[in-house]
Amino acid sequence: MSATAPITQDVMTIPRKLPDGPINLIGLTRDAMREVLIAHGTPEKQARMRVGQIWQWIYQWGVRDFADMTNLAKAYRARLAETFVIEIPEMVSKQVSSDGTRKYLVRINGGHEVEVVYIPEEGRGTLCISSQVGCTLTCSFCHTGTQKLVRNLTAGEIIGQVMMARDDLDEWPEIGAPKDETRLLSNIVLMGMGEPLYNFENVRDAMKIAMDPEGIQLSRRRITLSTSGVVPEIARTAQEIGCQLAVSFHATTDETRNRLVPINKRWNIEELLEALRSYPKVSNSERITFEYVMLKDVNDTDEDARRLIKLIDGIPAKINLIPFNEWPGAPYTRSSNNRIRAFADIIYKAGYASPIRTPRGEDIMAACGQLKSATERARKSRRQIEAEAGL
Ligand code: SAH
Ligand code: SF4
Repeated sequence: MSATAPITQDVMTIPRKLPDGPINLIGLTRDAMREVLIAHGTPEKQARMRVGQIWQWIYQWGVRDFADMTNLAKAYRARLAETFVIEIPEMVSKQVSSDGTRKYLVRINGGHEVEVVYIPEEGRGTLCISSQVGCTLTCSFCHTGTQKLVRNLTAGEIIGQVMMARDDLDEWPEIGAPKDETRLLSNIVLMGMGEPLYNFENVRDAMKIAMDPEGIQLSRRRITLSTSGVVPEIARTAQEIGCQLAVSFHATTDETRNRLVPINKRWNIEELLEALRSYPKVSNSERITFEYVMLKDVNDTDEDARRLIKLIDGIPAKINLIPFNEWPGAPYTRSSNNRIRAFADIIYKAGYASPIRTPRGEDIMAACGQLKSATERARKSRRQIEAEAGL
């Protein structure tokens, strides 16, 4: 393996099509859908138009049954139903927090489960979706990182999480309704389980579907992808997705970042910052969100705050301070509120927005870094976790 090859060798993607089973249309790009329609008998000349019609039924109106696609001839609908399915992952359970946050457990092909979190806010709502079952990376403060089982989600399973949440929120518009209704689900963040840039193509295709103007139509400004720092994929994200970028920064020296975010040993702070500098221009986005988890006595001193400002100098940025969310066996504790406020203040005075993220859904373990699906309960021991964190 070359020095820059991503660590994906133990990750697989279940093929979309089982050898003799029906083909799921969910997750196919327009081009891919066109190809499968042609391969199964749709005349080439009609294919683009048929894609447009089917696409609108699926992604704009939320229809899952070919029989309901009334602008297609009856015989054609029947033929489609013989070859294709429109299937999204199954919701296994839903928990609602006292603050209104909803955590869904979603079952995907093969019986694995991922978690999806809906966070209602004043006049909007954010869906936090997963890109992998588990994560190959082992950030020492993250619960997901202790899960051993890993598989990439397909594009269908990724966009399917958004569709499932829209089902649950009852948010598909009436057929024929005007496009500009207020949205309960107005924003997507790729901040659930997994490292989205280790599953690049599937994440890209799913987000293209979310942004398509004839479907779910969320603007690229309302989609934020969070990465731990997969440097070679950052430029591609700007070019091929163009969404907002958040980066799990979390430390101001390589020594500390190596311990917290081990991918730093492969691409260090300097290399990461270099990749980030070109992101806003290439993606035409305003600023990068630097996520910074506040860990008591680890990364939370005034000196850290000042170093952070120096490091990001010249990058249009917002610093999102995340009070550490504890989980059973975690080797860290949360910085005190006073410490977090003092840290935020230094950054704010240097001219950067420095919001402190309010933990949401803590009572149902739905807050950042607390996600871990029920299929994989085998937990590393506290000793093992501490050893990996270099404590
Ligand atoms: N893998 C991606 C996206 C998922 S994690 C990434 O690492 O960026 C989403 C955010 O939650 C990241 O910034 C992550 O560092 C942070 N996080 C993980 N565990 C946390 C915890 N226990 N408390 C607070 N934030 C945490
Ligand atoms: Fe993976 Fe992100 Fe958790 Fe790190 S913080 S282990 S990259 S999910």
